Amino acid sequence: MIEICEVGPRDGIQNEAKFVPTETKVALIEKLIDSGIRYIEAVSFVNPKVVPQMADAEALLTKLPVRDDIKYAGLILSRSGLERALKTDIGHLHVATTTSDSFNLKNVKRTVADATEELTKVAADGVSDDRKVIGVLGTAFGCPFEGEVPVERVLKVAESFLKAGSRGITLADTTGMANPNQVSEVVGSFRKAFGEDLDLSLHFHNTRGLGLANVLAGYQAGVKRFDSSIAGLGGCPFAPKAVGNVCTEDMVNMFHGMGDATGTDLEQLVETAKWMEQNMGRSLDGMLMKAGIA
Ligand code: ZN
Repeated sequence: MIEICEVGPRDGIQNEAKFVPTETKVALIEKLIDSGIRYIEAVSFVNPKVVPQMADAEALLTKLPVRDDIKYAGLILSRSGLERALKTDIGHLHVATTTSDSFNLKNVKRTVADATEELTKVAADGVSDDRKVIGVLGTAFGCPFEGEVPVERVLKVAESFLKAGSRGITLADTTGMANPNQVSEVVGSFRKAFGEDLDLSLHFHNTRGLGLANVLAGYQAGVKRFDSSIAGLGGCPFAPKAVGNVCTEDMVNMFHGMGDATGTDLEQLVETAKWMEQNMGRSLDGMLMKAGIA
């Protein structure tokens, strides 16, 4: 069984120029749940001046259906983000840093080592407060400013997060630079360093058209959880030209076609994608909603 972490409400919407009202975000999340999605990165606790789309994080969370079988996660990039998150009921914290000094210095004005030191404390405090923490490592497959990011550095940051009590690691290809061979190698290095039981998930952007190829490479290397975004919404306000997460319904179509269950209803996902496209008032990147289910 493949587990999908739907990141459209966060990674997708945060890159949209037009403000998406809280009610639309709630309606989207309800439709995703009706389509069988059970893990949703719903919000980001970031400075509202920097990412205005996420300014309604707390308000949004109070409006979501509360169900034992639904996991809501919030993205945390700093101590102040954690403080906000801990005042809400959110159960899952995705604590993120990048693994490239140039990227980090440009965006948060500190080195990877400094960011890791702070964020692993943040992760540990989240764990102490009974939240489930995943360490998210951005630019894990390359950085637009410095190119290759050595896997040793990514492993080192992951180790710090795991020592701090993170229950898993997400490797994020923030700007869509990964290729399938590299994905196999990096996943292999993680398995070798942390064992087969490591809870590992992958987060790809389709910036250079390799999103699904990279998902497949990760899957063939044994990964069972992937981030994706309904209708292919997505991007990152800090990453130049990083458009589009891997599209949820396109990815589900691939897995179902290969005979792998995802627990989701593909037709309903396509309807949800079309609904979102109408709401955004522009054509979105998802392909299945244009071509139809075969
Ligand atoms: Zn992303």
